[in-house]
Amino acid sequence: MHRFELAQAATTAQARELLGEKPGSVLKAGGIDLLDHLKEHLLEPPRVVDIKTVPGLDKIAVEPDGGLRIGALVTLAKVAAHPAVQKSHPALARACGEAASPQIRNVATIGGNVLQRPRCWYYRLESYKCLKKGGDVCFAVGGENRYHVIFGGGPVYAPHPSNAAVALLAYGATFVAEGAKGPRTVAAADLFVLPSKDPLREHTLEPGELLTEVRVPAAAGVKSAYLEVRERAAFDWPLVSAAIALKAEGGTVKEARVVLGAVAPVPWRSTRTEQALVGKALDEATIASAARAATVGAQPLSDNGYKVGLVQTLVRRTLVSLA
Ligand SMILES: Cc1cc2nc3c(=O)[nH]c(=O)nc-3n(C[C@H](O)[C@H](O)[C@H](O)COP(=O)(O)OP(=O)(O)OC[C@H]3O[C@@H](n4cnc5c(N)ncnc54)[C@H](O)[C@@H]3O)c2cc1C
Repeated sequence: MHRFELAQAATTAQARELLGEKPGSVLKAGGIDLLDHLKEHLLEPPRVVDIKTVPGLDKIAVEPDGGLRIGALVTLAKVAAHPAVQKSHPALARACGEAASPQIRNVATIGGNVLQRPRCWYYRLESYKCLKKGGDVCFAVGGENRYHVIFGGGPVYAPHPSNAAVALLAYGATFVAEGAKGPRTVAAADLFVLPSKDPLREHTLEPGELLTEVRVPAAAGVKSAYLEVRERAAFDWPLVSAAIALKAEGGTVKEARVVLGAVAPVPWRSTRTEQALVGKALDEATIASAARAATVGAQPLSDNGYKVGLVQTLVRRTLVSLA
């Protein structure tokens, strides 16, 4: 690891100032993903700006209508264990509760989770100068790609790694970011960016902008669930995950949001699955056709065709759990 200066910010404004003073400086929340980058020499910043010392960003507030305001520094463990989140937004509680290990969840923050970088092994190894690091090749295309994407790939094929982002997108969450021009709100759908737009970044925050809060709309009358499939029961990233939020009336699905994780460079909203659900009763036939719809347009790489069947099974299981 290269030497760096550690600066602890007392306010978000001071954090931005500390970042701006030394170009190349980086923010640290829980530090789980950041420290991996430092240890692997993927980043060699002159200064690390710790924001865990900024008070007030580690709270969950429940709005009178049941919406949630989750500070960017709230840990995954706290989101997962919060009684109101478990009751009104169970998919979010479960997504956070299944990420990583208990030790990591006690340190990792929801902001850092959403903004963590891809887990592709070529990206993570110093010796591969891949597209994500300013090179001109995505080594996954001709290499080991069993954990890579089946949707939205090109020119980079690394999957988005965040559990929380999948559930947040299913609830239509928005993010509050604070930059030089003050705070702004970004819809979850606009926060994440495909590599065809920018192969170097996964999100649209400006350099020097801080994520301060996640706002999750009230989910009264919404049934929701999150499920994932991992290679092993112990801590691991999912091979595939799914978050589904449905509103039904008189036995008919009126609204549906279906988001898949670990299959695309962004949390992947499956509008075809949603179309297969809306206006139908959530019965066996609807569930079967929605599961098939979830993989229309999938483009597996050489070693990850198994994800197609896995997505269908997971969407079916998630819908059955809601039916
Ligand atoms: C063994 C292992 C298993 C794991 N399994 C899973 C899993 O199953 N699912 C899953 O989702 N994750 C998993 N993870 C990843 C882990 O959850 C993330 O690394 C963690 O959530 C990142 O949060 P953090 O607060 O530590 O972020 P940090 O490491 O502090 O930051 C991550 C990135 O976000 C930036 N950042 C952080 N906060 C802000 C902010 N408020 N504003 C602007 N930029 C910010 C940082 O500069 C950095 O680039 C796993 C990790 C390990 C080591």
